[in-house]
Amino acid sequence: MSDSYSLLILPGDGIGPEVMAEVVKVIDWFGANRGMSFDISEGLVGGASYDAHGTPLTDETMVKAQVVDAVLLGAVGGPKYDLLDFSVKPERGLLRLRKEMDLYANLRPAQCFDALADFSSLKREVVAGLDILIVRELTSGVYFGEPRGIHSDDNNPDNEGGRVGINTQRYTSGEIRRVARSAFELARRRNNKVCSMEKANVMESGILWREEVQWVHDNEYPDVDLTHMYADNGAMQLVRNPRQFDVIVTDNLFGDLLSDAAAMLTGSLGMLPSASLGAPMANGRPKAMYEPVHGSAPDIAGQGKANPIACILSFAMALRYSFDQGQAASDLERAVEKVLADGVRTADLMGPEGGTPVSTAEMGDRIVAA
Ligand code: ATP
Ligand code: MG
Repeated sequence: MSDSYSLLILPGDGIGPEVMAEVVKVIDWFGANRGMSFDISEGLVGGASYDAHGTPLTDETMVKAQVVDAVLLGAVGGPKYDLLDFSVKPERGLLRLRKEMDLYANLRPAQCFDALADFSSLKREVVAGLDILIVRELTSGVYFGEPRGIHSDDNNPDNEGGRVGINTQRYTSGEIRRVARSAFELARRRNNKVCSMEKANVMESGILWREEVQWVHDNEYPDVDLTHMYADNGAMQLVRNPRQFDVIVTDNLFGDLLSDAAAMLTGSLGMLPSASLGAPMANGRPKAMYEPVHGSAPDIAGQGKANPIACILSFAMALRYSFDQGQAASDLERAVEKVLADGVRTADLMGPEGGTPVSTAEMGDRIVAA
């Protein structure tokens, strides 16, 4: 495999450009020191694109996103755009990227860095060393199923208020199999262990989910250790003993809840990366977009206070999952760990003991130095 990678960088709005500037320092370091070459293009997304072009994502940028090895996105949105029509809201740029690239597997790692273990909502003994990966199905399920809507229920005299709200949980076997394959592939690069979560005890789509995940396992990944768990029990186990898990694969709705809960096991929003992967392209690499979990944080934008680590760790995921540079990804994560262990903190990571926070740029510089 060649060591040349194409990247589309979309810094976006608010703190997006500030944290992305630090990622660019990291990319330059890998270019200069690890023999990787990056073919980088930059584009606009969200409010920044709306200001320049009247749309949160141009067709030109969309086309570019479809052909690069990876898209790196900062964040979109801000109060300036709150009153815009829904069709041109900054968030629509992000949704269009996800939809047209068909990014069906959303990866949300929950990794607890030792130096921050006391930031967790759980005790240090429960989370120290935690490293799990939640794979959430992102393009189907109850968020998209038809029929949906709020209707009058006038013919039902027993319904006080006279209305009914309908959503449909619908999964095809193909949709389940492809996200299951993503999870098994990821497990093979980690600890070869997948736990699939659904509610097969009460939902038809849950029964299909369990059967299809098992089918993919038995036919294509018999070497991976697969278990099944009801999602409500999964939520409990995630809080009781999260280290029992490695890769968790689940549907769109349960994944939304479980990944937010898992995020709180690790501390600050400024630390959480994510990846969204689609089908493999001709070169074997999946379509992919990497972005921090946090948003544009308008309250601290432009002040040099933002923590760039979530965005830097998102680039580490790109190294691992798009560029097959697992060693480089681990080295970058270790550099982050070292800087945190040295006590370097942006403002969001300051504990009650206080101290002097470093700026966004200094955190980036320290990670590059490490
Ligand atoms: P969105 O609607 O885009 O999800 P949100 O309203 O959930 O955004 P975020 O922008 O994610 O909010 O951030 C919530 C708060 O967390 C911010 O206002 C900010 O104070 C803090 N925050 C988020 N990201 C960071 C970061 N990288 N560094 C420091 N603080 C952050
Ligand atoms: Mg939010």
